[in-house]
Amino acid sequence: MNKALVVYSGGQDSTTCLYWAKKNFESVEAIAFNYGQRHLTELTAAKEIAAKAEVSLTIFNLDLMSGVSHNSLTDPAMTVELSEDDRPPNTLVEGRNMLFLTYAAIFAKTKEIKNIITGVGQADFSGYPDCRNEFILSLNQTLNLSMDYEYTIHTPLMWLDKTAVWKMADDLGVFDLVKDQTITCYHGIIGAGCGECPSCKLRNRGLVNYLKSKNDG
Ligand code: ZN
Repeated sequence: MNKALVVYSGGQDSTTCLYWAKKNFESVEAIAFNYGQRHLTELTAAKEIAAKAEVSLTIFNLDLMSGVSHNSLTDPAMTVELSEDDRPPNTLVEGRNMLFLTYAAIFAKTKEIKNIITGVGQADFSGYPDCRNEFILSLNQTLNLSMDYEYTIHTPLMWLDKTAVWKMADDLGVFDLVKDQTITCYHGIIGAGCGECPSCKLRNRGLVNYLKSKNDG
């Protein structure tokens, strides 16, 4: 059986990936992490959408993340800020994707799942180094070696900008679900979000561009 595990967060990208996985694999499960992110509404959204998609979701605690790293996603005392130069914004949780994918791989092997799906991409990657294709290819090889298992990490959004991610959700028939029920906002506001944070701006700019191209086309 063609099985896949989606690294899930309840956000736009991973929700699009969840439905992409459902289309491309016979059996799909999801994994999510509670890592002290400010807004547990993310995990609530994740649970609701996974239930609607009829995908089994397992949530693990990674409490130590907020202790080992200092960033505005897990520290309520910090404000979300973009950096002035080319550095990533202070929402960066160092190594997050590496850890998530590593735990996902360990979990996947116990279930004889070889396909792991993540919504990372480098088109709109905001300078997060572990969203880059080079990193994913490297980690894939490392995971295979570390567990003597033939994993394939799938990154369906790797080369897509946000406009194209909206198109993919629309093509998969989940445009409204992604628009209204996912959480991407750094302030934890569902759907359209606060409209002001970097994540909302990126998401909404992509949405406006997508709707415009759809109407023009
Ligand atoms: Zn926002």
